[in-house]
Amino acid sequence: MAYVIEVIALGQNQYPYIETVINLLNKSQEEFIYRLPPERLLKNGLSFSLSRYKKEDVYEWLEKYRQAAKGNRRFVIAILKGEIDNNFFGGSKAKLGLAYFSTNKKNLFNKSPYAYIAYFIIRYSLKFVSPEVKNHEDTRGCFYDYMGYKPDIGESLKSLRLCDECSLKIQPNFNEEIYDSIFLKMSKVIKRLELWWWFYKIKFWFAPQKAPNEQVDNSWLFTSISLGIAASLLVFYLSGWFELSLIIFLVVGIYVFLHNPKRRYFRLGATLFGFAALSGIPRISAAMGYKMTSGNPEVGNEDWFLKLDVFDEPLLPIAFVIAGIILMTFDRKEN
Ligand SMILES: [Zn+2]
Repeated sequence: MAYVIEVIALGQNQYPYIETVINLLNKSQEEFIYRLPPERLLKNGLSFSLSRYKKEDVYEWLEKYRQAAKGNRRFVIAILKGEIDNNFFGGSKAKLGLAYFSTNKKNLFNKSPYAYIAYFIIRYSLKFVSPEVKNHEDTRGCFYDYMGYKPDIGESLKSLRLCDECSLKIQPNFNEEIYDSIFLKMSKVIKRLELWWWFYKIKFWFAPQKAPNEQVDNSWLFTSISLGIAASLLVFYLSGWFELSLIIFLVVGIYVFLHNPKRRYFRLGATLFGFAALSGIPRISAAMGYKMTSGNPEVGNEDWFLKLDVFDEPLLPIAFVIAGIILMTFDRKEN
């Protein structure tokens, strides 16, 4: 039977990372099912925000959460951002089905934050399977390394195996499905994430998120507008075709609109503002003495050129501004 494990964020909203990681882990195997808390509980942990945590406080919070949330929550892993007393990076009360870890130093010992989160989720899943097996002080490149010396995290994350001693100890609780899921399938996910970290960084940046992530919201708006402007400038530079560069800007805007269900209309409105500013360029440039002519330019004609007459229309930017205001007002009403 599969282990159902809930993964909850404490203190800081790391759900975009967590969601991505558990989706990958769930897809790779069937023996461990990782879940985010349901919508009503998603934000419960976020107000438990400290720069430094005591482990007892974390366990206490988790116990209370479990009681209040009810339902069958046999296993819960908490992910927090703050530091943990005594320089711990995490810990577990495996018999009670509780574990936690911090992503505070996630980029110091390995490259991919996704691999880091996946590694610890698997590490604690293994402890839930065999709560009796304890960590050993020395470092053997084993899941049960104590890792008092923090850079060992990077080593353990690369080796992803058990030492012989732990392999023997773990046998009574192991079966083929658990072995396959942890050491063949999920370990492969971690290795892939770490090896191709730059690829996944780009890929996940573009992946749609379902969990609420208003923390990345503002940066998203800024990023998308800068990205849209950069892309449209590049296209304009290469093609010399003004409308095409506007379309590129709009495509980026629409992409952002779809990316995150939160405050979509605000983003789309902001995109239209940018669009209005860009569509005014032909008129502004005309006022400055540059001519943007319609139709095909002659060879050697250095004027910027337009293929559509519509941009000669002075009302066009105003129409975009009005549309932008309508969308943003609509967004305010919705939120
Ligand atoms: Zn070991």
